[in-house]
Amino acid sequence: MILTTHTTIAIQCPRCGELEFHALSLFAFSGKGRVGLHCRCGEPLLIANSRDRKYFNISFNCTFCGQSHYLRLKRGALWGKSALPLMCSEVEAAAGFVGPKQKVAQACKEREKSIAELASELGYEDEFENPEVMLKLLDHLHCLAKEGALGCKCGNYNLTFELLTDRIELYCEICDAVGIIFGENYDNIQAFEGMTSVILEENKTILLNCTHHGRFATD
Ligand SMILES: [Zn+2]
Ligand SMILES: [Zn+2]
Ligand SMILES: [Zn+2]
Repeated sequence: MILTTHTTIAIQCPRCGELEFHALSLFAFSGKGRVGLHCRCGEPLLIANSRDRKYFNISFNCTFCGQSHYLRLKRGALWGKSALPLMCSEVEAAAGFVGPKQKVAQACKEREKSIAELASELGYEDEFENPEVMLKLLDHLHCLAKEGALGCKCGNYNLTFELLTDRIELYCEICDAVGIIFGENYDNIQAFEGMTSVILEENKTILLNCTHHGRFATD
């Protein structure tokens, strides 16, 4: 029998959007019985408590709804054989996973399916006026987000977006900045793919790749 003493926690930071990986050792609970994990940006991510090292209380700050979620787990579930999702009850999605490193990495990969893949899986493709253009734009958007090059001047790097039939709209929910990415033609792709970062302007609407009125036209 193998006793597992290390587990991996992957959790998305509510502030910077980065997916953070942390190792958690059972032995870290000797002493104070409390372990706190932080993101590289300084944001607190998760706190685990245990008095007896049999039951563990976990609270994590959720990237989806911005609140804290709690769960109480037996040792065997936390240091178990499968990846356990850290679920947000509001949006019913996993903000992270706990478990063996490989399983956690796999679960994260699934979760990270590119936006374009998700869009076609969900059948959005048929809704778009020009699916090929839109999927190319989504791919580039995904790359920017992964590289941390998608955000808003107010400091929020966790933008939400909406897919419309002929464009993608980016929103900053903290300051009401809006970015519009047109998906009408190939010029739109070129203009957007030429951008190595997209930073929205506080409380403004920017037309990011508008080819009619110049590339960086604003209203
Ligand atoms: Zn962070
Ligand atoms: Zn949540
Ligand atoms: Zn903002």
